[in-house]
Amino acid sequence: MSERIRLQVLEIYKEVDREVAAAGPVCVASGRCCRFKEYGHVLYLSSMEAETLLAAAPPYEQPVTPDFCPFQKGNLCTAREPRPLSCRVYYCDPNYQEKSGEITEKYLRRLKQLADTEGVPWHYAPLHHFLNGEG
Ligand code: SF4
Repeated sequence: MSERIRLQVLEIYKEVDREVAAAGPVCVASGRCCRFKEYGHVLYLSSMEAETLLAAAPPYEQPVTPDFCPFQKGNLCTAREPRPLSCRVYYCDPNYQEKSGEITEKYLRRLKQLADTEGVPWHYAPLHHFLNGEG
């Protein structure tokens, strides 16, 4: 995937960040959202987002378990700038769940449109698939 497309993904992420900030979800920095097994959820992302993430994320050890994200260190994300849509939108704040769903749907459509326009294959899978090179 080209640098030009990666920059377009990052531009879409900026819009996402603005929309999430405007919604104002509360984060108590528990870090549980990145420890998938403990929190009981799975982080899905597209191949285009995975390529954007891996182009700028720090090194990590393989194989990656589905249980937690290897980029979380001390409850903080070490891949903040290129982190995928779901990481940017997801907060455990119960008052924000409906808005979270709306923002996710809207920007998944935008990312899919970009992939279609640019002829980038679209594969949607859990994070560890991509980190283990299975995506
Ligand atoms: S990329 Fe960052 S925000 Fe996303 S799951 Fe990993 S540590 Fe959490």
